[in-house]
Amino acid sequence: LALGHGLRGELRYREPLSLHTTWRVGGPADLFYLPADNQDLLRFLQQLPPQEPLIWLGLGSNVLVRDSGIRGTVICTAHMLAGLNHLGACRWHIDAGASCAKVARFSAREDCSGAEFLAGIPGTLGGALAMNAGAFGGETWALVERVTTVDRYGETRQRLPHDYRISYRHVDAPAGEWFLSAIMRLHKGGSDAGALRIRALLDQRKKSQPIGLPSCGSVFRNPPPGADGQARYAAQLIDAAGLKGMSIGDAQVSEKHANFIINQGKASAAEIEALINHVQAHVAQMFDVQLQPEVKILG
Ligand SMILES: Cc1cc2nc3c(=O)[nH]c(=O)nc-3n(C[C@H](O)[C@H](O)[C@H](O)COP(=O)(O)OP(=O)(O)OC[C@H]3O[C@@H](n4cnc5c(N)ncnc54)[C@H](O)[C@@H]3O)c2cc1C
Repeated sequence: LALGHGLRGELRYREPLSLHTTWRVGGPADLFYLPADNQDLLRFLQQLPPQEPLIWLGLGSNVLVRDSGIRGTVICTAHMLAGLNHLGACRWHIDAGASCAKVARFSAREDCSGAEFLAGIPGTLGGALAMNAGAFGGETWALVERVTTVDRYGETRQRLPHDYRISYRHVDAPAGEWFLSAIMRLHKGGSDAGALRIRALLDQRKKSQPIGLPSCGSVFRNPPPGADGQARYAAQLIDAAGLKGMSIGDAQVSEKHANFIINQGKASAAEIEALINHVQAHVAQMFDVQLQPEVKILG
C-alpha cells in the first residue's frame, strides 16, 4: 500500500492484535492504523485503496481475533479519537475512541446522570454503539441523540437513531459505515446518587465477574424467553450444563461467571473458539437452546 501523504497518525505493519484485545489473543493485522485525530482518519480513508478489507477496533473487549490474524487494515480508535465535550444542558459530544468509563466519570463530574452503567464496560463509545452495550438495565442507544458516521472513502454523515434497527446487544447499521462520534443526551442532576450507583455497580461486578483476568465479558447473548415466558440467562444454562471450570488448553469457562471464558495464560484463539463451540453444542443438546455468541469473531 502506498500510504503516507500528509498522514500524522501511526501506521504499523504486522501488528499483533493480541496486544489490542482483552482476551490477549489474536494474530497480526497486515496494517494497523492509529489516527492522530478525526481529520487524519478521514485523510487516511481517502488514501486507502477501495478493495482493501477494513476492520474497526476500539478497545478489543468484544472480539475474538483468530490466530491467523487479519488480512487487511485495522483502524484503532481507542486512546486517540477520545474527545469528550459538554455542550451544555447535559448534551455531550463524544468521539468514538473515548472509553465508556471516561463517559461515565466525566458526565458525573458535570452533574449529569444516566450513563452510570457505562462505568464497568471496558470498551470505547464506538464499540458500545456498534454493540448497543448495556448493563444493569441501561443501554447505550437509549442515550443517543445522533451520530456521525464515516464510510471507507472518508465521507461523513449525520444519522439519527431511527436510521438503525436497535435491539438487545445488536445494531443493524447501514453497511460500510462506522461511528466517528455521537451526541448523547443525559439527565440534568442526580450525579451524587449517580456516583454512589457507579460504585455499587462496580462492586457488584467485582463480586460476580472474574475481573482482572483476560476475557471478553459475556461470550453469549441471553436467549429470548422460553415458551413459558420466563427470562433465560446464558450463564445459568451453561452452569446447569455442568460446564463451569471446563477448559480446552488454557481457555477456561470461568468458575465465577459461567458466561465468561478466561485466558489462563497462554490460550490461543483456536482454543477459545473450540470452547465456545463446545459450550454451544452441549447447551443445545441438553436444553435445546441455541446460544448465539455476543463476541465478534474476526479473521
Ligand atoms: C470484563 C468485561 C466486562 C464486560 N461487560 C459488559 C457489559 O456489562 N455490557 C456489555 O454490553 N458489554 C460488556 N463487555 C463487552 C464489551 O466491553 C462491549 O461490547 C464494548 O462495547 C465493546 O467495545 P470495544 O471498544 O472494546 O469494541 P471492540 O471489541 O473493539 O469491537 C466490538 C465490535 O464493534 C465494532 N466497532 C468498534 N469500534 C467501532 C466504530 N467506531 N464504528 C463501528 N464499529 C465499531 C468492531 O468492529 C467489532 O465488531 C464486557 C467486556 C469485558 C472484557
